[in-house]
Amino acid sequence: MRRSAIDAWVEHADVLNPGGTYASGRRAQSVLAQAREIVAEALGCEPIEVIFTGSGTEADNLAVRGFVNAAVAKGETPQVVTTPIEHPAVRETVQALSRSIGGLVVDYLPVSSSGHVGDLSALNAPATVAAVMWANNETGAIQPIEDVAAQCQTTGTPLHVDAVQVVGHLPVDFSTLGATTLAASAHKFGGPRGVGLLLTKRSPVPAPVLTGGGQQRGIRPGTQDVAGAIATAVALKEAVGEIDEEKQRLTELTARLKQGLEGSVDKLEIYTHSPHLPGHLFVSFPGAEADSLIMLFDSLGIEVAAGSACSSGVNRASHVLEAMGVEEKTSRGAIRFTLGRTTTDEDVDYLLAQAPGVVERARRAGMA
Ligand code: PLP
Repeated sequence: MRRSAIDAWVEHADVLNPGGTYASGRRAQSVLAQAREIVAEALGCEPIEVIFTGSGTEADNLAVRGFVNAAVAKGETPQVVTTPIEHPAVRETVQALSRSIGGLVVDYLPVSSSGHVGDLSALNAPATVAAVMWANNETGAIQPIEDVAAQCQTTGTPLHVDAVQVVGHLPVDFSTLGATTLAASAHKFGGPRGVGLLLTKRSPVPAPVLTGGGQQRGIRPGTQDVAGAIATAVALKEAVGEIDEEKQRLTELTARLKQGLEGSVDKLEIYTHSPHLPGHLFVSFPGAEADSLIMLFDSLGIEVAAGSACSSGVNRASHVLEAMGVEEKTSRGAIRFTLGRTTTDEDVDYLLAQAPGVVERARRAGMA
């Protein structure tokens, strides 16, 4: 969390319920309004379009479920267009809806071996909602979201964009993007954990998933977390102000990491292809298990993640790599290096010095 966000959070930790009409409630309301204005300015939208949620996951659910529920309420058979590489916040939501709503049709935009969608023909016919991520959380691949939005506008399909990996890292202008809703998550840009954003156009609006006191246009009822909102706004403003500089710094750092790994470790496979987020590098070291690599790196103070989801201790291959056509055996050795605001040149030097030994030990341990 950025220092500025911690300070803003602490300063407003004791504000009261912004729904109160008494003086302290009005004070809280004015801090919340200020947070909305800062977010709107940073993301090119109107303050009324800013909905604070409890996470990026919640924002994705409110949009996808909301548009589908609205169609069901009108007696329509919902149709969803999405991609096979979505984060579980969208992917599992779409799958849960298709299990529970009879007749729901899901079409997937295909993904190339580089991790990008290209063939948009599944969007040629109008759908209830299209849910497409702006950048992938595993590979960092930046999707052609403007083309997706243009196609959705042609058919009148509401577009939900999962921009959790993009907001605070690449410029976002919601007013010109052409999306109907857009999800973000504060902890991805130095804000607090447990705050998300759902930008929502005035129309069409997703049907409420929660019912309650009608706060936030009824889309997300419930008492708002004012301290979380203002801390998020402050972090976002700072992150957006640093985009150009950070993009250049991280692009250079990530390129150096990639070249260093290619020069010192044999038989590695790189899954991060242009255009991609500046700080992502998703790599497989065939013959090694991701879990071994993670533990060995961790013991050296280097924190890396697997692309795969671990469920009940079983390491499952990444659905993103599967969609890119990567063999399961290879994808089981895939780990993600994510460089960010706090990553330094020295960190990359240290990682490059340790990587050959770690990979060798992990390969010796073999595959489970
Ligand atoms: N969507 C994407 C692309 C993500 O990377 C994440 C989190 O990593 C989420 C959604 C979920 O956001 P949150 O962790 O705030 O629930």
